[in-house]
Amino acid sequence: MARKRVGIIGGGQLAWMMGSAAKTLGVELVIQTPGTNDPAVSIAKEIIFAPVDDANATAKLAQRCDVITFENEFVNLDALSKLAEQGVCFRPRLEALIPLLDKYHQRCYLRDLGLPVPKFVDISQGLKSAEVISSSGLGFPVVLKARRHGYDGQGTFIIKEQSHLDQKLDSDSKNVSGFLLEEYVPFERELAVIAARSTNGEVVTYPVVETQQEEQVCRRVIAPAEIPEQVALKIEDIACTLLNSLQVVGIFGIELFLREDGKVLVNELAPRTHNSGHFSLDACKTSQFEQHLRAVCDRTLGNTAMISPSAVMVNLLGYENSQSDYTGKRQQIEQIPQAYVHWYGKNESRPGRKLGHVTVLLDSPNRDRAMATAREIESIWYSK
Ligand code: ADP
Repeated sequence: MARKRVGIIGGGQLAWMMGSAAKTLGVELVIQTPGTNDPAVSIAKEIIFAPVDDANATAKLAQRCDVITFENEFVNLDALSKLAEQGVCFRPRLEALIPLLDKYHQRCYLRDLGLPVPKFVDISQGLKSAEVISSSGLGFPVVLKARRHGYDGQGTFIIKEQSHLDQKLDSDSKNVSGFLLEEYVPFERELAVIAARSTNGEVVTYPVVETQQEEQVCRRVIAPAEIPEQVALKIEDIACTLLNSLQVVGIFGIELFLREDGKVLVNELAPRTHNSGHFSLDACKTSQFEQHLRAVCDRTLGNTAMISPSAVMVNLLGYENSQSDYTGKRQQIEQIPQAYVHWYGKNESRPGRKLGHVTVLLDSPNRDRAMATAREIESIWYSK
């Protein structure tokens, strides 16, 4: 029998966006999240108020649902493994998360699978950075990444010279459990793909998208990406290899770099729904959120095709400290033809915080047109 009660570890916007699909599918969501104002509190059937790494709370969550999934992967895997041994069903499975939660381990996993990744090296405390740089063949600029708990560019630093690298390692080593150092990829574009795998091993992919980051934070997504067909096929192939090798069930987001010579490198794999797939809520036959619920509830996967020739998604990021809900600006953005505004209901804005997003459906796949639409939204949103 299909599973019907889904436990979600994490109650941010990714869980919140599963709300309407859960209703459509007749699935109930039970959520573990620390804050009473967290976005997904409003759509949950039941809530366990606890941090995402509180495994005792997850044991309670397990009693209230048929399957547990993640909207936030910063969990305590060792503690959760004990629950899995007692028969609790996690999707994706915990063993598959082991190589993914540490960026260095993840790079090794991808490399060992034969997938293309940037040149990288571990730079654990105690190693002299100048020696690591010279023995690894990396040259400045380099990218320094905290091995764990990085998101939205937090913990990722582009470093131009040796003295900055030493400074960063010195100042952050107390707070961070190890770093990864890698080549700076002078990419032509950043791309991403959302892929899903079902319990019977079927893998589907969404159209490959272009993502645009500023200061390491995603600002906009253009779907589909304007890329040669063989690049899209290569990326679909990478996605299938990865999900099949991990033997996972659910949605995964894969971020990639496209170099000028046409070569693709995998940057990162997220074991959950992903910002680069938000366009699917309005622009695809099956959203990534519905797809994830379909997969973890043993259902067949839905159609990933777009319902419009193209779409652009723009994140509405906080740009000040405020408690405003920005009703006026949201209404103005909604006036744009075929615009769909999603507001996460956070009661506090801070610079860089993801407060909502907008997707606009476009009637032709034209990158300039998509960029112009994104600029129009951003000029409304970021105006004083
Ligand atoms: P996070 O996990 O915090 O999202 P990422 O590793 O994805 O961090 O990095 C965030 C952004 O930083 C990327 O989208 C890209 O724009 C930039 N970046 C990361 N690694 C590299 C790299 N090796 N070369 C060039 N830019 C990079």
